[in-house]
Amino acid sequence: MLTVNAYAATSATEPLAPMTIERREVGPHDVLIEIKYCGICHSDIHHARSDWGPVTYPVVPGHEIAGVVTQAGSEVTKHAVGDRVGVGCLVDSCRTCVNCRHGREQYCVQGGGTLTFGSVDKDGRLTQGGYSTHIVVTEDFVLKMPDGLEFHHAAPLMCAGITTYSPLRRFGAGPGKRVAVIGLGGLGHMAVKFARAMGAEVSVLSQSLKKMDDGLRLGADHYYATSDPETFEKLADAVDIIINTVSAKIDLDAFLGLLAVDGALVNLGAPAEPLSLHVFSLIRKGRSFAGSLIGGLPETQEMLDFCGEHGLGAEVEIIPAEGINEAYDRVLASDVRYRFVVNTSTLT
Ligand code: NAP
Ligand code: ZN
Ligand code: ZN
Repeated sequence: MLTVNAYAATSATEPLAPMTIERREVGPHDVLIEIKYCGICHSDIHHARSDWGPVTYPVVPGHEIAGVVTQAGSEVTKHAVGDRVGVGCLVDSCRTCVNCRHGREQYCVQGGGTLTFGSVDKDGRLTQGGYSTHIVVTEDFVLKMPDGLEFHHAAPLMCAGITTYSPLRRFGAGPGKRVAVIGLGGLGHMAVKFARAMGAEVSVLSQSLKKMDDGLRLGADHYYATSDPETFEKLADAVDIIINTVSAKIDLDAFLGLLAVDGALVNLGAPAEPLSLHVFSLIRKGRSFAGSLIGGLPETQEMLDFCGEHGLGAEVEIIPAEGINEAYDRVLASDVRYRFVVNTSTLT
């Protein structure tokens, strides 16, 4: 076992605190990664606070990991010591079900794969995430970071990046398509960047106009406040793809009303409480309401390569580990520009 420094949640209500955890020995197919930066995803907060149900504590959140391989098992062929790599929300899956075989490991029929934290691993131990100095991961679930993209800009791609890239591709974002992104936070700002890079016309739907300059700088063509009822009149029937990144309940019917015929609203936000809608919001215009969960490994590598080609990374605020609790409060207050990343060298 390797003892490493980490930052963990010990209950749904206590602040996160420093802790040491054990990582397994590097097996023949494993790599040991020295984590350089780890992003703070709103899902970390949902999990740490038991928003989605009971949690086994202590838990080390973090599934936006960027770092360097410092040791490779005897059978490892995909990565070598010194490689720049990333790990996202998954560290393993059954590898044999229909979804795993098609590179859609996030939909593994055996429980959706092994999550980077809060899952029971194949050795029976609970997985612990990236707010730590090192992690041991089977080589197949480790991806290659594009050259030229600094680790702190790259780390958030491992969740915020793939989660927005995947549905934009699936629903055909590109020239001639009008994309609207609800919520300009971690996921939302990546959705804007990707939709722009794919050639779509991009609108941001934010609670206010506070972040308008940023939204336009990040690549949006238009910026609207959802607190202004006129937004919903102006944009009625005028959007092809809506990406909802809001971490709370929204008025789905109001947003579905913005979709043109055959348009789709893809829900990425994962609030604990159910969302409801009137079916007439869908059937009157042949609209779809869809969901999407992160992305599989091949598509995650495709997304990273796309970011390398287009020079895309996340806008980040780098924080020391001791700043994690304050960062959580700021994310909950929609005061994030646009991802906090933990400098893991501060985990002493
Ligand atoms: P985030 O950085 O907090 O961004 C969410 C944004 O939603 C906020 O910045 C804010 O944008 C808006 N918002 C927040 N509360 C709101 C409210 N009450 N009403 C209206 N708008 C509100 O969070 P994130 O890390 O991007 O994650 C967003 C959600 O996606 C979370 O629920 C997370 O768990 C989920 N998620 C899902 C997946 C997946 O695979 N489907 C993956 C990762 C995360 P404005 O200030 O611009 O309004
Ligand atoms: Zn995430
Ligand atoms: Zn599977």
